[in-house]
Amino acid sequence: MKQNDTAPSDFIREIIKEDISTNKYDGKVLTRFPPEPNGYLHIGHAKSICLNFGIAEEFGGLCNIRFDDTNPIKEEIEYVESIKDDIRWLGYDWDNRLFFASDYFEQLYEYAIKLIKKGVAFVDDLNAEEIKEHRGTFTEPGKASQYRNRPIEENLELFERMRAGEFADGSRVLRAKIDMSSGNLNMRDPVMYRILHQPHHRTGNKWCIYPMYDFAHGQSDSIEGITQSICTLEFQDHRPLYDWFLDELEIFHPQQIEFARLNISYTLLSKRKLLRLVQEGYVSGWNDPRMPTLSGMRRRGYTPEAIRDFCNRIGVAKNNSIVDIALLEHSVRQDLNKRAPRVMGILDPLKVVIINYPEDRIEEMDAVNNPEDSSMGTRKVPFSRVLYIERDDFREQPPKKYYRLAPGREVRLRYAYFITCVDVIKDEKTGEILELHCTYDPETRGGDAPDGRKVKSTLHWVSAPHAIDAEVRLYDRLFITPNPDNTEEGKDYFSNLNPNSLKVLNDCKVETSLKNAKPGDIYQFERQGYFSVDIDSDDAKIKFNRTVALRDTWAKINKAMQKEKKST
Ligand code: ATP
Ligand code: MG
Repeated sequence: MKQNDTAPSDFIREIIKEDISTNKYDGKVLTRFPPEPNGYLHIGHAKSICLNFGIAEEFGGLCNIRFDDTNPIKEEIEYVESIKDDIRWLGYDWDNRLFFASDYFEQLYEYAIKLIKKGVAFVDDLNAEEIKEHRGTFTEPGKASQYRNRPIEENLELFERMRAGEFADGSRVLRAKIDMSSGNLNMRDPVMYRILHQPHHRTGNKWCIYPMYDFAHGQSDSIEGITQSICTLEFQDHRPLYDWFLDELEIFHPQQIEFARLNISYTLLSKRKLLRLVQEGYVSGWNDPRMPTLSGMRRRGYTPEAIRDFCNRIGVAKNNSIVDIALLEHSVRQDLNKRAPRVMGILDPLKVVIINYPEDRIEEMDAVNNPEDSSMGTRKVPFSRVLYIERDDFREQPPKKYYRLAPGREVRLRYAYFITCVDVIKDEKTGEILELHCTYDPETRGGDAPDGRKVKSTLHWVSAPHAIDAEVRLYDRLFITPNPDNTEEGKDYFSNLNPNSLKVLNDCKVETSLKNAKPGDIYQFERQGYFSVDIDSDDAKIKFNRTVALRDTWAKINKAMQKEKKST
């Protein structure tokens, strides 16, 4: 297994090593992460962030942040701020290298003028629909616009008037004059500028023409002096266009390198699709703990270290694949195992009365905070006559291989005593188990019997009078199918949403040491999993998100029990 501290190796890093050895960019490395501020970052973006910042770090270079804010309709300041927060949270720092494509609008306009003057860009009066019709297909060449051969002077004048706001949205565009019969559709006189009378979150009302992404992106890289412009595979077919612009403009030429985007099973990684889940109320917001966004994962209890470890493990490749979500969860468990303090919490409480334990007695038991890290020390956990255990830890008729509590059976209470169940108190009408009566063996304090007798299981518990009421939110996958985009004819990914992705438990009991827990704190509830304190917590109630369950060793037994149930 790959270690965090070993430098990764992949085809991109090989290219960069080569570029350094040939002194291609004077041996410099300057990468960038270029988000469009039209949504919150997701784990796919984390892959790109770790790659770009990671490479800069490894090769003694730098990494810029650049917001590709060329579309004023979908972009908002809220997104800009959240993206900055998320990158910082992941552990990366851009110092003073925070840029916006909109910073370059004037320069890009000058570049456009240069191309018009060279006779390789023209103002087209065709509308979007007509341009599309003229475009042709993969098998058929496109048709040139009748405005393609406008004189340069006329193009210059019209483009200036476009900028001056004389024309309506969509009435004219500026296009590159390349090749309408190119096998690459991106080269068929692509649109460079469109008219959009729309205020921009940074430039206000200064502009009513906006550069297309394809015209802005490569030039922005060039302006910043980016050496390796790393992007995802879908831009491979755009590279010839980006190269064309840079060559025609005769400006600094970064090297674009494409890699496969991250896909994860049971997960959608597309801001556009995630936005719909938010807008249509299927989740509580971009930071809903079920979302694959960095803000959702943070709220759920995923750590930056776990996410970086995951990005390291998956590596980068040239071909698309789907990563098993279990791998991400594995990275999360590995990290939390090292850092999360252990506590006891009961999700579904069953009352236990220790009938031979004095009513007024309270003992302080020593509990280990983290067996993985002795420096985290110990704490005191109160023990008393009335306790709660997990309802699932008792069976009146225990199936085979069920070693937990049952009538007449002795088990260990973690850090406390051996107890034996002597009576089951039920609701006479419903048959529901209300409480258990148990006896304890005072000789077994701390969890061992002096006579050497063994018990087969150890249960977690909390003292009832000391317990804190809590709410726990259990999450399941947001989608029921490994590929949520795989749907029946005529349906979309909404049809694959998991109706049971959130289960709220209102009546949980956690140990008293959690009274000072703050939102963002993460604990391991022994035998249950990892839980983060949610931002919804208030003085009335502490609320937990289950970050991830512990490895489910009970799954097999459960299956056996289901089988037994069916056959009886
Ligand atoms: P989305 O489809 O979610 O909107 P995007 O590519 O349009 O993604 P951008 O804001 O343009 O989002 O992405 C910023 C950077 O993150 C780009 O360089 C992009 O290639 C990269 N990126 C986006 N999604 C992924 C992914 N799933 N895996 C790896 N890199 C990604
Ligand atoms: Mg994009």
